[in-house]
Amino acid sequence: MTWDTEVDVAVIGGGACGVMTALRAARDPGRVVAVFEKSTREGCNAAISSGSLAAGGTRFQAAAGIDDSPQRHAGDILRASGDEEWRPVVEALCEAAPRIVEWIADTGYPIEIGTDMPRAGMTALRLHTDTGRLGGARLMRHLRALLDAHDNAAFVDEAPAVDLVSDGGAVTGVVVAQNGALQRVRAGAVVLATDGFAADQALVKRYLPHLGTPFYGGVSTSTGDALAWAGRLGAQVRNMGAGLRSGLVVVDHGTRVSPALPFNGAVLVNLHGERFVDEESKGYSSMAGVLQRQPGERAAMIWDATAMAATRESEMMRESLAAGAVRDCATLDDLAAALGRTADETGRALAPLPGRRRLTAPYHLAWVTHGLLTTQGGLVIDPSGRVLDGTGEPVPGLYAGGGAACGLAGPHSDGYLSGNGLLSAFGMGWIIGNGLTERPADPGGPRRRP
Ligand SMILES: Cc1cc2nc3c(=O)[nH]c(=O)nc-3n(C[C@H](O)[C@H](O)[C@H](O)COP(=O)(O)OP(=O)(O)OC[C@H]3O[C@@H](n4cnc5c(N)ncnc54)[C@H](O)[C@@H]3O)c2cc1C
Repeated sequence: MTWDTEVDVAVIGGGACGVMTALRAARDPGRVVAVFEKSTREGCNAAISSGSLAAGGTRFQAAAGIDDSPQRHAGDILRASGDEEWRPVVEALCEAAPRIVEWIADTGYPIEIGTDMPRAGMTALRLHTDTGRLGGARLMRHLRALLDAHDNAAFVDEAPAVDLVSDGGAVTGVVVAQNGALQRVRAGAVVLATDGFAADQALVKRYLPHLGTPFYGGVSTSTGDALAWAGRLGAQVRNMGAGLRSGLVVVDHGTRVSPALPFNGAVLVNLHGERFVDEESKGYSSMAGVLQRQPGERAAMIWDATAMAATRESEMMRESLAAGAVRDCATLDDLAAALGRTADETGRALAPLPGRRRLTAPYHLAWVTHGLLTTQGGLVIDPSGRVLDGTGEPVPGLYAGGGAACGLAGPHSDGYLSGNGLLSAFGMGWIIGNGLTERPADPGGPRRRP
């Protein structure tokens, strides 16, 4: 077997999971780590995400008087997903989450607890965000800069992996396409951090046909590449019918409105002028299914100045406002005209549910529909990120995390709890990267930085 280059750790995918894996593995200066990224121009979902980090039991929560713990966080996730079989993975990630958030903050990233970010299914305020609310792009830039400071780590862009190399069932390397040629990279460990398959229409049709034709709100690079390579080595997949959906996608704009709006009194009214759901009772992923069942697969989200003041600083609201996706209605009559209903019908639709606030004019309105952001099914892993085969045994040398692995939503999109995506990605990157520095380096060295 001839190799073009050799590394200790080859990470495939330079998004949330990949960069975190590399950062943790590269702490050992004796190890050479390479991240092979398909294309940062096309981007990763982490960089277009809101960058909300779910963690229970952080010093930020303690300072804000919020009582939370990794156990409580795991309990919320499992209550939403019903996926008891996945408990060991969920618990491992929730245990790591507060340490990850605090470590990111300690590297100089400005983090705060989102006390204005309540979410359905969360029994404590636990979404952490950057103080400027600039979203995942800022966070990924920060983490990439940290990685660039490591002499023993390389981030190789425009270098998609095209296959794994194996020997007797053990993964020994990866084939990477670079500058029109194929490179064979020998690696002591290969980490699949390529995210899910939401950008591959055929795979989405195969595994998530019940979604119909949702707006797609993720990046083009999520084509599920790793699933086929790992599958050929006997790796298993699970929960392939689950996705991270959003019922907050603004029609004709593709931006989203804030998930905190319903907690500030916002109501949803369908094309028939009817209110059809308790808006606070649904997470944005399960709300997508509710919207899909409405006439025209859409509804008007309506809120007022108080709700606007409480949410307008989120990156989602800023983007929607900047895109002209929000309509202002000075009076109830204006709102009724925007809905195509009478003022009486509109007034009835706005009647507050018991214990909720009554909206007052002026109003704001955005027509929202359902979208798919990422898939949540993927490779079966153990709590240390090792990819498992059909007998439950690890495929030697192969790890997976983030959207390439099975997520935390359980079998259905309704089980997705806010923050699960980056928790899976950063959490498993943290666990895998730490674990790789704890085991002896492959004696086959010396390694070269690609
Ligand atoms: C609009 C939006 C908002 C979101 N907001 C949040 C949020 O606030 N909080 C939260 O927890 N989650 C959120 N999510 C989900 C979250 O972004 C993802 O779950 C997370 O980014 C997955 O991390 P990852 O590392 O697996 O994938 P990514 O971050 O997508 O990175 C995968 C990388 O792998 C690369 N890649 C793919 N194939 C190959 C290949 N063959 N070779 C080399 N590289 C490859 C891609 O180019 C990409 O750079 C959001 C998602 C979207 C779309």
